[in-house]
Amino acid sequence: MSAIPFGVIGVGHLGAVHARLAAGRPEFKLIGVFDVDAARCQEVASACSCKAYSSLASLLEHVQAVSIVVPTEHHFHVAEQAVKRGCHLFVEKPVTANSDQAQELITQTEQAGRILQVGHIERFNPAFQALDGYSLEPLFIESHRLSQFNPRGLDVSVVLDLMIHDIDIVLSLIDAPLDSIQACGVGVVSANEDIANARLEFANGAVANLTASRISAKAMRKMRLFQHNAYLAIDFLEQRTEILHLSQHPVPPDQSAHCIGQIGVGDQTKSIFLHTPGPVACNALEQELKSFAQSITDQTRPVVNGRDGLRALHTAEVILQEMSTRKELAAKKAGL
Ligand code: NAD
Repeated sequence: MSAIPFGVIGVGHLGAVHARLAAGRPEFKLIGVFDVDAARCQEVASACSCKAYSSLASLLEHVQAVSIVVPTEHHFHVAEQAVKRGCHLFVEKPVTANSDQAQELITQTEQAGRILQVGHIERFNPAFQALDGYSLEPLFIESHRLSQFNPRGLDVSVVLDLMIHDIDIVLSLIDAPLDSIQACGVGVVSANEDIANARLEFANGAVANLTASRISAKAMRKMRLFQHNAYLAIDFLEQRTEILHLSQHPVPPDQSAHCIGQIGVGDQTKSIFLHTPGPVACNALEQELKSFAQSITDQTRPVVNGRDGLRALHTAEVILQEMSTRKELAAKKAGL
């Protein structure tokens, strides 16, 4: 496989990491980077031994694939230009600023026969990947994504900033249409919601209860899944996974599980087996880029494609709408 000529557009906080990782991957040849901040562009180019381009158009002339890591409001405009120049796209999450743009970008990339991958990085978190091969049919999901205050990202609601990661994971796990959404959120420090909760109800009866905060004292990124005969806990931050599996047979299903007790009464008693699949430590962003290269080379569907990005974004938009309706109703009730 020959290395794919690659560029990174927007080399701020996360884009610089894209550039550094791409420079070290054999699947890519990092040609150059572009950023509207010329000094930053030069700094990252020097660190990654590639060229600092002075315009987007000049970078696009030399590459076949790009990572787009500019602020979300500029994703669509930059992506549109890149796809017009025939590039495959890795676009950071959220895919675009709104669903209409996401739909338009999907249409453009499909018509051009180009790959569109969206940066929902938690799909590549080893703690989540450790569940590969396990039969997942969650009926209740509880998730907490809490981070400490950071002035970056305050221009959007915590729903688009943090909760969207869990929305994407939940939508990837529950194979049923969304029936209803209830949500509330509060702006504590910023004008947008800094803490939010959403309850997603699905047509198959499954429910997901998601909480996201960017004003917490301690960071946490945990998801708990409950399903018939099993409880699964994913710690995205610590990259640890635990599966508690109930079985009527007292013998462990395989060598990796051990019995930690029993639950139930009489002939309904079941053994509880604990299985802690050892996630293979890895850099999730590096895995995302590797997978992007694989999709380009094999012309296969990316793990997280444009439609996944659109679904997560659209769900986030409905959550935001629910929050705003709730606030309006509360204001009406208070006679404001
Ligand atoms: P940042 O502000 O640190 O960096 C953005 C960079 O883009 C800046 O250097 C800026 O000068 C440059 N830029 C702005 N407009 C540009 C344009 N039109 N063309 C070229 N360069 C331009 O932001 P960040 O934290 O790195 O976030 C960038 C994107 O990555 C956002 O969409 C954000 O949501 C996403 N992100 C994703 C994750 C994740 O977990 N997947 C984490 C952080 C950020």
